[in-house]
Amino acid sequence: MTVTEQADPSRPAGAPAPEVFEAEARAFLEANAERRTVESFVWGQGSDDVGLFPERTRAQQLADLAASRTWAQTVFDAGFGWITGPQEYGGRGLPSEYQRIWSRVAAEFRTPSLSVYGIGLGMVAPTILAHATDEVKEAYLRKMWRGDIVACQLFSEPSAGSDLASLQTRAVRDGDEWVVNGQKVWTSGAQVSDIGEIICRTDPELPKHRGLTGFVVDMHAPGVEVRPLRQMTGGASFNEVFFSDVRIPDSHRLGEVNGGWTVALTTLMNERASIGGGAGGAGLPATTRLIEAARAMDKQHDPLVRQQLAEVIINERVAGYTNRRAMAKIAAGQLPGPEMSLAKLSLTANMVRTCDALSSILGPSLVASTGAWGTFAWSQFLLGVPGMRIAGGSDEVMRNILGERVLGLPKEPAPK
Ligand SMILES: Cc1cc2nc3c(=O)[nH]c(=O)nc-3n(C[C@H](O)[C@H](O)[C@H](O)COP(=O)(O)OP(=O)(O)OC[C@H]3O[C@@H](n4cnc5c(N)ncnc54)[C@H](O)[C@@H]3O)c2cc1C
Repeated sequence: MTVTEQADPSRPAGAPAPEVFEAEARAFLEANAERRTVESFVWGQGSDDVGLFPERTRAQQLADLAASRTWAQTVFDAGFGWITGPQEYGGRGLPSEYQRIWSRVAAEFRTPSLSVYGIGLGMVAPTILAHATDEVKEAYLRKMWRGDIVACQLFSEPSAGSDLASLQTRAVRDGDEWVVNGQKVWTSGAQVSDIGEIICRTDPELPKHRGLTGFVVDMHAPGVEVRPLRQMTGGASFNEVFFSDVRIPDSHRLGEVNGGWTVALTTLMNERASIGGGAGGAGLPATTRLIEAARAMDKQHDPLVRQQLAEVIINERVAGYTNRRAMAKIAAGQLPGPEMSLAKLSLTANMVRTCDALSSILGPSLVASTGAWGTFAWSQFLLGVPGMRIAGGSDEVMRNILGERVLGLPKEPAPK
């Protein structure tokens, strides 16, 4: 009897034993990717890019997408693309333990970035799985997880960000279709997206949270116009998206008519989890880089700098433990709530601490280029932090959620 055939009541029928799965994953990666060498960070060597947002030209974005797509397809076709997903929609139906094994083994190898799929897989796909019709699940989930298509999140509007329920983009029913008119803004990745999750106003007479409906919209449909916006870091990774008489089949509705607020909340919870998730340090530069910057500037004995570096490192560890608690809740089948807000807030608060430490370490060379390696390059990180503090719910809004739902403080008064 092979290990695969052993009956284990805790495993779904036909699932390989974890050690067999791990061996398969490692064999696949050995054959298709380069093993990472043990890299020790040496000040002055390699790239000094620590930017939070990619600063890529259109041609570079398309080349990146092609490389990401080839890798995503190869991984999916080998059975490692959607390890925990339901089999009827292209997943492998394995418990999350197998996903953790894959992530651990894959980290030993150098592989192309899959970040272009982050919003689609981290936020839109779970919402489709929870709220879409079978037709939409069958049409898109496999393609999304295989990297064939990219998805974006069409929520924010010029007058609806934190107060998302004020959004005005209208969807009006016309037989078996809906006709959409309006404008979205700050749509990350829309310039390379094939589909989007859009929340529209379907009943302006109802109270604002109750008159909304979610849909999956084809970003190549007639009437969809994407205009890139340039951010202060120099690049253009998010967009304005205009909808003029865009038709969406009713089968592409997410959830009930006027039930869009529930749909949006599913996405937002997943958004906070994916921004604040990981080990509590996603998006933060490696602390080694910070410590070496202090050494290079001969600030390693400065008590203020030492204190600032210690605060960054301690808070990163604490955020890591908080995130593990949230992940344990998810693994136990519970819905994480305020933990996700806490995770997001912890991350951005530590980014701000990192900026403070950087300004003590680098002084004016942080904001005016001297041409020296590893100095002015940090300005890209600094300029990206405000965006991180806003995206996925601003710091202030996260604090409101924690104040009201965790500390039980009175709700803030509604605007008159
Ligand atoms: C990098 C980036 C990527 C993004 N990507 C996407 C995307 O892909 N799709 C998408 O739909 N949106 C996206 N957004 C938009 C994002 O969701 C909104 O910017 C965010 O919700 C804030 O909304 P707003 O910009 O309209 O600011 P506002 O809501 O107008 O807020 C302005 C200020 O007022 C504060 N404020 C607002 N309400 C309160 C309150 N009740 N109490 C205390 N303070 C308050 C805020 O904290 C902020 O400082 C992105 C934003 C960024 C920065």
